[in-house]
Amino acid sequence: MELSTEASTILQVIFINVVLSGDNAIVVGMAAAGSPPDIRRKVIFYGIGGAVVLRVLLSLLAVQFLQVVELLLAGGLLLLWVSWKLFREIRQSAAEHSGTEALGRLGPTARIIAGGHSLLPMMKLRMARPEMLIDINELDELSYVRRVDAEIRIGALTRHVDLLESELLAEHFPLFADAEAVIADPVVRNRGTIGGSLCQADAAEDLSAVCSAAKAEVVIRGADGERAVAMEDFHLGPYMTAVKAGELLTEIRLPVRPGAGSAHEKVERRAGDWAIAAASAAVWVDGGTIADAGIALSAVGMTTIHLTRAEELLTGSPPSEELFAQAREIAAADCSPSADGRGPVDYKRHLAGVLTHRALRRAAARALRQEA
Ligand SMILES: Cc1cc2nc3c(=O)[nH]c(=O)nc-3n(C[C@H](O)[C@H](O)[C@H](O)COP(=O)(O)OP(=O)(O)OC[C@H]3O[C@@H](n4cnc5c(N)ncnc54)[C@H](O)[C@@H]3O)c2cc1C
Repeated sequence: MELSTEASTILQVIFINVVLSGDNAIVVGMAAAGSPPDIRRKVIFYGIGGAVVLRVLLSLLAVQFLQVVELLLAGGLLLLWVSWKLFREIRQSAAEHSGTEALGRLGPTARIIAGGHSLLPMMKLRMARPEMLIDINELDELSYVRRVDAEIRIGALTRHVDLLESELLAEHFPLFADAEAVIADPVVRNRGTIGGSLCQADAAEDLSAVCSAAKAEVVIRGADGERAVAMEDFHLGPYMTAVKAGELLTEIRLPVRPGAGSAHEKVERRAGDWAIAAASAAVWVDGGTIADAGIALSAVGMTTIHLTRAEELLTGSPPSEELFAQAREIAAADCSPSADGRGPVDYKRHLAGVLTHRALRRAAARALRQEA
């Protein structure tokens, strides 16, 4: 039987439509099976939604042959996009769930190991005695710096070196590069992670102050789902964080706002050493006035010190040397350093003030695009 061109085109389109939708259904089915409920919902939404859009497009344009060719191209691209989104969602979800699932199964005697640069020294000193280690280094899906709407998101397994080299962070939060340039040495930076740094909660560690000043929030995942915690609520004490037994830190989120400038200043005994004191500062300038400010100190207290009083002082005033000098006095007063091999209390207080002043000056210059 001889078919008209139009009928034959329609038949071809229906055939392709069925094949594409069938493929799509298989992808959706595979993706949804065994996924946790929140991911399953997304997968079904994207998968079925993609198939429906494809079908509607195909039906609308099926009768015109040239458009069919374009449509096939568009349909293929749409299918690729849907599949790629699904693939990423599933890989990331699987990564996070395999970590939390292992933690839940092995109990509180198991510990996550990321770069190992803090945990292994603690184990050597017998300050940590985990019975099992859960190595998350294979979870590449937790290693990224990306922009999502008005946020920069950093995966917990992102290495120091990737933070140092990130153009996105350099553009919006240059205090990361300031800090990373003086954290340890290339051996540590190639392996150590932001998640490990924050979860170690060592008061002398730089990235906690950086994330506090940048007003970050962190995402913590456990068997019951995930929750977001502001950095100011993350550290509960020395080496203690809001991450509970059986939970995994998965992501750090930084809000991107206009008029931002930030800087990190540190003094150490020799290159690559831990800080004697360090200060992180971020300001958001709007119409010549500081609309918001974040300031935090490392190594001058039992935990990262959040300088709330100084932040309140700055907010609502134009940036000036006088204002930053007042913030310096507050920093020196509000920290609580201990005397140790790195220096006496008075010296560390003085340093905390001076570094706060310098960090604020540089943050403001960056916000106003006046940095030399
Ligand atoms: C010689 C040397 C010098 C250093 N100098 C500095 C410095 O100047 N400034 C600085 O800031 N840091 C410094 N560090 C620390 C370095 O930054 C470490 O890499 C970092 O503290 C820990 O990261 P990690 O990935 O190695 O964590 P790990 O050692 O693997 O883990 C540390 C802790 O975090 C937990 N953990 C890790 N990842 C997760 C997660 N995703 N969710 C839940 N828990 C998790 C682990 O169970 C462990 O308790 C130095 C380290 C060394 C060895």
